[in-house]
Amino acid sequence: MNIKTSESLFERAKKVAPGGVHSPVRGFRGVGGTPVFIESAKGSRLRDVDGNEYIDFCMSWGPLLFGHQDPEIGEAIKVALSKGWSYGTAERYSLEFAEDLMKAIPFIENIRFVSSGTEAVMSAIRLARGYTKRDLVLKFDGCYHGHVDSLLVRAGSGLAEMASPDSAGITAKTASETIVCPLDDEKALEEAFELHGPNLAAAIIEPLPANNGLLLQRQEFLKKLEALCHEYCTVLILDEVISGFRTAVGGMAELTGINPDLVTYGKIIGGGMPVGAYGGRKRIMDYVAPMGPVYQAGTLSANPVAMQAGHAMLKKIIRDRPFEKLAKTGEWFTGEMQKLANAHLPFPVLIQKFGSISWMVCNGTETVRRIEKIPAEQKAHYAKIFHGFLDEGVYLAPSGYEVGFLSTAHTDEDLNRVLASAKKVFSSIKG
Ligand SMILES: *Cc1c(COP(=O)(O)O)cnc(C)c1O
Repeated sequence: MNIKTSESLFERAKKVAPGGVHSPVRGFRGVGGTPVFIESAKGSRLRDVDGNEYIDFCMSWGPLLFGHQDPEIGEAIKVALSKGWSYGTAERYSLEFAEDLMKAIPFIENIRFVSSGTEAVMSAIRLARGYTKRDLVLKFDGCYHGHVDSLLVRAGSGLAEMASPDSAGITAKTASETIVCPLDDEKALEEAFELHGPNLAAAIIEPLPANNGLLLQRQEFLKKLEALCHEYCTVLILDEVISGFRTAVGGMAELTGINPDLVTYGKIIGGGMPVGAYGGRKRIMDYVAPMGPVYQAGTLSANPVAMQAGHAMLKKIIRDRPFEKLAKTGEWFTGEMQKLANAHLPFPVLIQKFGSISWMVCNGTETVRRIEKIPAEQKAHYAKIFHGFLDEGVYLAPSGYEVGFLSTAHTDEDLNRVLASAKKVFSSIKG
């Protein structure tokens, strides 16, 4: 495969941005090699600057439920552009979008739009602290909530220990206000609430953790968290930035029957445009400025083009309900992929999936629900698989800790082509 233009662009890019990229995983550090530079994308396909085409399973990290350049969302964007692209005033587009979101998702009694998932989470945490007048936040090891200071932390050596920073530039003091629990462990959760419950402003979780592989959680565990939050009057925040609108209209909250106090969205909610949102119980949301004392603002919040794109996406989701069909396709596709992996790879691979999301556990055979259960060989083995597929014109997420996404734009023909490639790729890999 010729990627000469990508290589020369990457050399230039490294001179202008850290690692040549504007978000770390794009730099291919997790898999090695040169990132391919994309020129355009349509449907299930990416096309790079050297003219190579790829069937895309990264899908902009999740937002593109209907594939690249969905015609309905594209039309909404064109119409929006013809009316101007930023007002900085009250307008009707965010109102109409919010009304439809509230109609479709019963636990959203009030909503505030922001511009990213990180911003949504950061705002929800501040709101929970302002509302409860408590300081501590509980998060789970293996969940990612954007690059929010207080959540870029990892577990201390014991439950009674405070967390430590997981990035340079985060103070020990900030980390000390976060409690980190393991996933899939009711007992640890009970202990954490016994120790810290009365001081916990919020507990935040990805109900379908999909940022360190796909760490499937048991319903009983999620229910336990909900019950403990109730008992201690701790604000339960479901971070549905990935799972929202991908697993159901109302995301994992709808599928599990768990009622969040606050929910955070990003990714799909903007239909590919930069949108995030937080919302939930009105009595909590009433604490947000200008109604209440918790300050949160944004110059480009509820950008009219992004709102009309997101609204078009929501209308299409509600009309088409693509979830069942996507899950069925996912079931078939990952099942075939699993058979090929079993038959041709020199190490065991287990494909974990939920609906249209999937992840390969490399050198493992048992369901992984916790981050420390991810096999040590994950990174090295996945890198081989990734590059094999890339050479075949299949673009997987460039990290073994990221999941793959199916869209409605992936045709049976695409998927059969990928399966034919998989046989070739898996057979060529040496242990
Ligand atoms: C992607 C993601 C975020 C961060 O969203 P950005 O738009 O990248 O800031 C937060 N939480 C979860 C669960 C995510 O998947």
